[in-house]
Amino acid sequence: MNAIRLRDLAEIPVERLRGVGPKKQASLEQVGIVNVLDLVTTYPRRWVDRTNEARIADLVPGEEALVLVTVRSVTKRVTRNRRTMVNVNVGDGSGRMEVVFFNQPWRERQLTEGLQIALFGKADTYRGGLQMSNPVVDLIGDQTGRIVPIYPQSEKAQINTWEMAGWIGESLRRCADRGIADPVPVALLREHAMIDRGRALHDIHLPEQISHKERARRRLAFDELLRVQMVLVLRKRRMEREQRGIDHRLTGEFVDRFTSSLPYELTDAQRRTIAEIEADLAAPHPMHRLLQGDVGAGKTVVAVATMLSAVEGRHQAALMAPTEVLAEQHATGIAALLTGVTVPDPGNLFGDRPLRVELLTNRVTGADRKDVLAGLADGSVDIVIGTHALIQDKVEFSSLGVVVVDEQHRFGVEQRAALRGKSAGGRTPDMLVMTATPIPRTAAMTVYGDLDVSVLDELPPGRTPIVTHWANGPLMETGVWQEVRDEVKAGRQAYVVCPLIDESEKLEVASAQETFDRLLHDELRGLRIGLLHGRLPSQEKELTMELFRSGQLDVLVATTVIEVGVDVPNATVMVILDADRFGIAQLHQLRGRVGRGEHASTCWLVTQHNEESNPRVEALVATTDGFALAEVDLELRGEGTLMSTAQKGRSDLKLASLRRDRALIEIARTAAFEIVDADPDLADHPLLADELDLIFSDRDEEFLAKS
Ligand code: ADP
Ligand code: MG
Repeated sequence: MNAIRLRDLAEIPVERLRGVGPKKQASLEQVGIVNVLDLVTTYPRRWVDRTNEARIADLVPGEEALVLVTVRSVTKRVTRNRRTMVNVNVGDGSGRMEVVFFNQPWRERQLTEGLQIALFGKADTYRGGLQMSNPVVDLIGDQTGRIVPIYPQSEKAQINTWEMAGWIGESLRRCADRGIADPVPVALLREHAMIDRGRALHDIHLPEQISHKERARRRLAFDELLRVQMVLVLRKRRMEREQRGIDHRLTGEFVDRFTSSLPYELTDAQRRTIAEIEADLAAPHPMHRLLQGDVGAGKTVVAVATMLSAVEGRHQAALMAPTEVLAEQHATGIAALLTGVTVPDPGNLFGDRPLRVELLTNRVTGADRKDVLAGLADGSVDIVIGTHALIQDKVEFSSLGVVVVDEQHRFGVEQRAALRGKSAGGRTPDMLVMTATPIPRTAAMTVYGDLDVSVLDELPPGRTPIVTHWANGPLMETGVWQEVRDEVKAGRQAYVVCPLIDESEKLEVASAQETFDRLLHDELRGLRIGLLHGRLPSQEKELTMELFRSGQLDVLVATTVIEVGVDVPNATVMVILDADRFGIAQLHQLRGRVGRGEHASTCWLVTQHNEESNPRVEALVATTDGFALAEVDLELRGEGTLMSTAQKGRSDLKLASLRRDRALIEIARTAAFEIVDADPDLADHPLLADELDLIFSDRDEEFLAKS
């Protein structure tokens, strides 16, 4: 008799279980439980350990405790100030007490007489008796056993935790004879001290001791992570096998000449990254690399070196930026870095010609545009820098060798793929994706698991760190404006970022306008102030940026349009209003607009209401290290920020957490490489192959690989 596979469980509909008729079946379906696999992978959200429970008689007023009680009676009434109040009288063998719930009218229906419940809360004395108000309630029903699993409950679907426990218990009992198959090689389990899957599946639901559920969770979380890594690694290896890359003929000479022409030494991180990229370019399969580097880490030089490598082998390179402002800035900056560079040109009397860099955005029109398009098609344009305009149909390359995408999170998957698709002859250009939003390494393994990752983890020397302050409340805000005036007097410039309004760009623009007017007439009267927001015509935006860049404006009031890429070294003050409305990553990006020159810079995070604490703002004050902040962000917000909802919903990380399970992620990734490299078709791992097939539809796989 073969041990039971996940597929076997998935083939048994829930109706086959005792007590699941058409009505319950429909309810379960509502919460996504259709088959027995869905059921047994619905894990408890908590376990109540009866041996730890207090008795009512032992409760100490003012102290939190857990009690296991039976509901005696329930009444509901509406108080004079129109709040509902549900009173529940409960008892155990030792005594009775009152429980009150304010504004939870549904408790009347939930807590029926005779029901066993666990209450967690603080008991107080009230009118001579004990009372708990608004405790945490876990329904236990008539479950027996020392440790009771509490399942997520859906009010809507009308399924309670003891029904769930019953069905899951029955399912597990029916698996006992044949046992649950284990797809993970025994040696691997042993190496990492993991229990077998059958044991784990049992113990997560019905642990004999509370400590057992932790080792069960570890094993099952590992399985989830291994599956994700298997998909990513399989996909990565398949691409490497199947895609034909561009033949780059690298001598490194171009890049060497370029780097030695720079007025500074490369950092070790830049050197290492460029070497990694050169190795990728020399390899037969296309590069697919993510470059993570904090703002100011010097990603541009790496991008230019990458593009030059393509040009050296007589190919073209494209850099795609998310906004026109950024594309223009890159075009100007990169053209300046590359002045004097020549490329071989046999058709030319001197055997070479100047390297040609062009800009292509929707603002490049008429004859200029025609010229750029013709140059791309005939190969006379070596490097093109642009926006989405680069992926329009009319854009054709003579030989696109390298694609660099800046600020990756602003582009969709399709847009990157579209640019990459613009190569000729069935060859795939090498791609470098750059992001200034660091994410922790192990999280990157899961979110970008099919990409190779390089990290610029070192800032160029000589930077004066930005000092960040929290201006907590209106009183402190006054001081901020004085600081701005002082800096302007000293010849510096300042940014003021207006409150972020998620719901509406219109409101955001209005608030920016309002801030601008207020500062102009009041706090910063007499200074030269400009306003920048998304709804201005692009000519006006451009003009304002230019005035600020050239020092003809002292202060730039802006919405988050300045978040990426704006580079004005003389700006030394960043004021972010209503800083509590922004996320950590965004605040960090905004702050990165200052601290780009020789003068010391300051960032003020202004919040309106005097608050006691604000973990996000405090994190920004404490460090300027983007990776450290990424850790805090993950800690505070959880993985939802890293994976889109769709991705999270479809992948099967139910127990595993990108935050808590970093060590497991590493183990899973290493294991996936070991398994795939030894057995690329998984011929020797049929159980594992079958499981991947079952759990990841094609769409999921695409999604995971391309996110
Ligand atoms: P990023 O795009 O990573 O935010 P940039 O490429 O714009 O950073 O570089 C930020 C600034 O640092 C630029 O002014 C650049 O000239 C400078 N820079 C880059 N690399 C170095 C280095 N190795 N030493 C000194 N300055 C550097
Ligand atoms: Mg940059």
